[in-house]
Amino acid sequence: MTLPAAVSFLVLAAVSVLSLRADDRPNILFIMTDDHAAHAISAYGSRINRTPNLDRLAAQGLRLDRCFAGNSICTPSRATLLTGQYSHRNGVPVFNDLDPSKTTVAHRLQQAGYYTAMLGKWHLGSDPQGFDDWNILPGQGRYNDPVLYDRTGHRIYKGYVTDVITDLTLDRLRNRPKDKPFFLMCHHKAPHREWTPSEKYRREFAGREFPEPPTFRDTYEGRADALRQNHQTVFKNLTRHDLKMVPPEGLAGQERQRWLGQVPTEVTVRENGQDRVLRGDDLDRWKYNRYLQDYLGCVQSVDDSVGRLLDWLDANGLKDNTVVIYTSDQGFFLGDHRMYDKRFMYEPSFRMPFLMRWPGRIRPGTVSEALAVNCDFAPTFLDLAGAPIPADMHGRSLRPLFEGQPPAGWRQEVYYRYYHDPGHHNTRAHYGVRTANHKLIHYWKIDQWELFDLVRDPDEMKNLAGDPASQAVMADLKARILRLQAELGDTGQFADKIPADTVDRRPKQMDRKHPDSPL
Ligand code: CA
Repeated sequence: MTLPAAVSFLVLAAVSVLSLRADDRPNILFIMTDDHAAHAISAYGSRINRTPNLDRLAAQGLRLDRCFAGNSICTPSRATLLTGQYSHRNGVPVFNDLDPSKTTVAHRLQQAGYYTAMLGKWHLGSDPQGFDDWNILPGQGRYNDPVLYDRTGHRIYKGYVTDVITDLTLDRLRNRPKDKPFFLMCHHKAPHREWTPSEKYRREFAGREFPEPPTFRDTYEGRADALRQNHQTVFKNLTRHDLKMVPPEGLAGQERQRWLGQVPTEVTVRENGQDRVLRGDDLDRWKYNRYLQDYLGCVQSVDDSVGRLLDWLDANGLKDNTVVIYTSDQGFFLGDHRMYDKRFMYEPSFRMPFLMRWPGRIRPGTVSEALAVNCDFAPTFLDLAGAPIPADMHGRSLRPLFEGQPPAGWRQEVYYRYYHDPGHHNTRAHYGVRTANHKLIHYWKIDQWELFDLVRDPDEMKNLAGDPASQAVMADLKARILRLQAELGDTGQFADKIPADTVDRRPKQMDRKHPDSPL
């Protein structure tokens, strides 16, 4: 080595060591909810609710408008978040356990000197690994007086689950080791089905009516059979349990459960002192409003939680050196295309909210339309910690998006694959690609294609797959899918070897006394 080269090596080494000093590295507070769609956040232009604390987070930092889940369902999204890998590589395509021997971003941050903690909904079957502390719900957990597990056992925490998880998060923040930066995952159960709001917000949202989405009466004309076959419509699939209907007096045990599990074809409501029977369109609208009253009531507690956490950081001198991220494991249908739930690659379900604050480093009010995907999260955490990003992660650090414009060579398309067929809602497996302007979906088991022009048809109502004028676009998108599958190592073989669902076996005796929906 020549002298100048040796000097520059030493300088680089010194810079590298300095950049890894604990007090130079930001804390990371990662807040994730379950099934919170971006279009139920006012910072994203919601037409149905207001979320002042999430809006505050957006106003103080970055909002990603095109952040997507690589497989839009709870457990696979969580596995991707921790591994930086798509399902075909991390081994969690459906509701199966995450292999506890797999190295996750938590291990890597722990090894890099971070204090790591995981609080709330885990939903990956095996116990959390790579965390100094963890305290998790079993399976889906329950909304009221939840049971949580830690290394030593489990106990009931009195109260509403979103408040309980927030309290646990604040407790870890207060009692964390102060000589290390922290990586803290606060994972809420809400607003997952069966959408039980706190008593405060149940009262506040009772009786409210909401504008219908433009695709509320979608007839699925011209689209793949997968849409007509789905069992996740607001009108035909929400049960009496989902709609919080009260069973007739005298019903008990299995009889009561059977009644609650049925889909009501008429409902009697009390209006102006008189009973009124709702059917047809009136019943559809009632179901939609009833669904959103509960869903948005749950969201409101999440918004309160974010406010409490931001307030605490601000009041305790941690505002400037803590990166706060808010996201959800995927989006959700809020009556869009007649549906609830997720799974499909259509925008309401495919898109994730992503808000990020880092004062002094992210310009307030930054908005990016660059394409991001949830396998980018783990590389971003490692980048923030100054730790190396392993080559077997599929994602890349989002740092360029919050430091300014995406660099030349930023991804031009996002890949997607969903496996859980028929799953809980008779959903057909599919893969696809989304660019800035188009989306191509292939339901591979039934060999049907859908092509959408997202500029002219943002609601994805007109399938152009059979349109002669769109064949050049279609061929280009098919070529992109093949290229992405080759780059990501998705040969398709994995898609035919889906592990059995196992993740919901965790709930034990205490939780069975208060069963929640297994979905
Ligand atoms: Ca979810």
